[in-house]
Amino acid sequence: MGGSSMATQILSDKVEKLNRLVEVSVVINSTLELEPLLRFIMDAAAEITGAQVASILLVDTKTQELYFMAFASDSDSEHAKRLKRIPVPLTKSIAGAIVQENRAIMINDVTTDPRHYRVTDDKSGFLTHSLLGVPMRIKERVVGVLEAVNKLQGNWSEDDQHYLEILASQAAVAIENASLVAKLRSAYQDLSQIDKIKNDFISIASHELRTPLGVILGYASFLKDESQGEASEHAEAVLSSAMKMRQIIEDMVNLRYLKVGEGELDSEESLVSEIMIGALHEVQSTAKAKDLALQYRLPTNDAKIKVDRHKIGMAMTNILNNAIKFSPPNSQIMMGYEMRDHEIWIYVTDKGAGIPPEHLERIFETFFQVEDHMTRKHGGMGLGLSIAKAVVDAHRGRIWAVSAGENQGSTFYISLPLMKG
Ligand code: ADP
Repeated sequence: MGGSSMATQILSDKVEKLNRLVEVSVVINSTLELEPLLRFIMDAAAEITGAQVASILLVDTKTQELYFMAFASDSDSEHAKRLKRIPVPLTKSIAGAIVQENRAIMINDVTTDPRHYRVTDDKSGFLTHSLLGVPMRIKERVVGVLEAVNKLQGNWSEDDQHYLEILASQAAVAIENASLVAKLRSAYQDLSQIDKIKNDFISIASHELRTPLGVILGYASFLKDESQGEASEHAEAVLSSAMKMRQIIEDMVNLRYLKVGEGELDSEESLVSEIMIGALHEVQSTAKAKDLALQYRLPTNDAKIKVDRHKIGMAMTNILNNAIKFSPPNSQIMMGYEMRDHEIWIYVTDKGAGIPPEHLERIFETFFQVEDHMTRKHGGMGLGLSIAKAVVDAHRGRIWAVSAGENQGSTFYISLPLMKG
């Protein structure tokens, strides 16, 4: 009877310790905060091995010294703070021997062990009697030591060592995860820094380019009006090139909209016709230069949508500019919109170059152009549609193109949610 109750006691003891280990795994999987995690592991280590305290020492790869990283429960105590400042040499210390020999060391009386590094005790005022330490490994490399210090009753056991080894491997995973997260965070910060530099560069460069370009445009158009014959033709050439350049600069400035999020929209209630007519107005002179007929068709009852007028207007202008660019002279471009369930579908149809079916999706990618960059006869940077898509996406709308194929014309659609009520 006595024997069986003792067996039950041992068993329930084991179950309790295993439960504690499972708890540690759960905590490891639910947080990436290193300090509380290590503290939790160390509390578990002290408790399971029946030790006074537990601590983790990590190898500093530069100095090749060990330093205390964390301690059980009393980590805010004076002795813990003092410990944090005391480096432990890899040679001439028990923790160092654990690292170098890559194996557990169990000592029931440190006073008799010549490897014991007494400086730590002297400086911290903490007395080490007995010690059980195991290596912590990340991918076969020993990165530190998990130590249980001062067994409260009796001597260390094989079980203590076994549990401590499990906890050490969990602590190593936690440290590895934390360092990966730290690396990711810093890479992310680097990226946002680069992104900011890029955006600043674009806005400064485009601003600096716009001012002299305004002067060129002004004088060229003045010269064109004032001169005749060949001189007027030359002025015309300057003017048209300067206008192309202005378009490129606009594209550059609008690059920032490629990343527009829903939160950055300046939405207001608007009549669809107003935004549409605004966009048509913008491109009127370019269409006229190619003798294109720009037409529009509105439903009997104009719809209201809640959108960022400026950005949706820009998306429409980009589509219209493409229609103009890829249309043959004297042809017709039709813009309009239809009501569909809870949406409106805005369309722009041209009778131009058309789009091969395999490119219908890809044209919305940044810098994608159907024609080869080197041999293309149309200007542009391949940004207009990707900017339009980013803007439409931010409005929770959709954008797509339909075309029967090369030289069969194209229709571009933008769907936007209708206002409720
Ligand atoms: P860009 O016009 O500056 O080249 P976009 O992103 O606006 O850049 O368009 C990408 C590509 O999609 C164009 O280069 C062209 O190949 C194709 N495309 C866009 N609109 C039309 C259209 N209306 N007709 C034919 N092809 C078009």
